[in-house]
Amino acid sequence: MYQKLLNIIANIEADTQTESKELSQALQCVLQEDILAEMDMPPFNKSAMDGYACRREDLGNELKVLEVIPAGIMPTKKIGKNECSKIMTGAALPEDADCVFKVEESKETEAGLIICMNAKTKNNICYLGEDYKRQEVLIQKGCILGPDHLAVAAGAGYQTLQVSKMPSVGLIITGSELLDPGVPMQAGKIRNSNGIQISSLLQKMGITCNYYGIVGDELELLTHNIEKAFLENDIVMVTGGASMGDFDFVPKFLVNEGFKIYWERTGLKPGNPMTFASRKGKYFFGLSGNPVSSLVQFEYLAKPVLYQLLGASYQAFRFRAVLESDFIRKNADRQAVLPVILNAAGKIEQVDFNGSAHINGLASGNAFIEMPVGVFELKKGDWAYVRQI
Ligand code: AMP
Ligand code: MG
Repeated sequence: MYQKLLNIIANIEADTQTESKELSQALQCVLQEDILAEMDMPPFNKSAMDGYACRREDLGNELKVLEVIPAGIMPTKKIGKNECSKIMTGAALPEDADCVFKVEESKETEAGLIICMNAKTKNNICYLGEDYKRQEVLIQKGCILGPDHLAVAAGAGYQTLQVSKMPSVGLIITGSELLDPGVPMQAGKIRNSNGIQISSLLQKMGITCNYYGIVGDELELLTHNIEKAFLENDIVMVTGGASMGDFDFVPKFLVNEGFKIYWERTGLKPGNPMTFASRKGKYFFGLSGNPVSSLVQFEYLAKPVLYQLLGASYQAFRFRAVLESDFIRKNADRQAVLPVILNAAGKIEQVDFNGSAHINGLASGNAFIEMPVGVFELKKGDWAYVRQI
């Protein structure tokens, strides 16, 4: 079922407006142009070492030093028989030199001549165009920009990049039982964990949400607040009120207000009740109230939707690792997503985890393990898919 939802997501049309951003503001943005090479790289044959540039055939001979070539300054002298130039890392190789030997492998004679002490030295040259050629595509449109991509863009001479405009997301937390940190505790109440959790998950994607705070469980109140958030944002995200309780008004609101509903169940455990819907080109996410569920729903579904809308080529980073102990369950009708520790040996350790409300159980892990539908047990030594939390 979860796979079906991913297929639905893949068919949602990207809704991207582009804007130009300075490199320093583009981290986590989705690239909307190909980054092309401005010139061959390296743009000239360059020395990979601090040393002496000479002809390979002269290694072992006493060599006369013609000049010193700093990085950034072009050499002025051709290398002839039994000649060399002192050269710095990154400097252009002088004409007719085909080898650089390291300072550490050189000896100076009393007469001031230089001898290479290692006849088997490598050439220590980075050759013209060996990294890439002019106009080559270095990074493709759709990339989610990390520090490495920005370094490549800077290396190719870009000052600004065309990126997707981030959507404005309104976040509403529902639940009459919720109190924010700082408000004195009262009987029957609990703290609001989802506000900061969901806004932080958005922040990690480079999206600053508009936070509308806690709304009590009343249909009218909820309708008023969600409609207000829709007027002010492209996307509205709500936590809580998503399931079958007497006071879970989110599904009722969506039906009343004429939304197109893409799904109401995820097939994930925890995190089954979740609604994804749209109306007039704007999108609605109804996440669970339980904080572990809402985090799983965000990571496994909301994030892929947001990246799809932004035109990103996003694929969650999953990989296989070996189990340190047995994982057993009684019911295998949903894909389980459980917090675990992926240890330094690359093995999967269990953490104490009681289910969807147990947010500190989740926080004691560093990865999720996935147990597919139909799989009742995974044994110590088996391989399973994990992904970082
Ligand atoms: P709901 O989805 O509204 O039925 O809530 C499911 C469970 O999650 C209930 O036990 C709620 O008290 C709890 N819950 C709902 N919202 C939050 C929140 N923002 N922070 C922490 N727990 C919550
Ligand atoms: Mg609730």
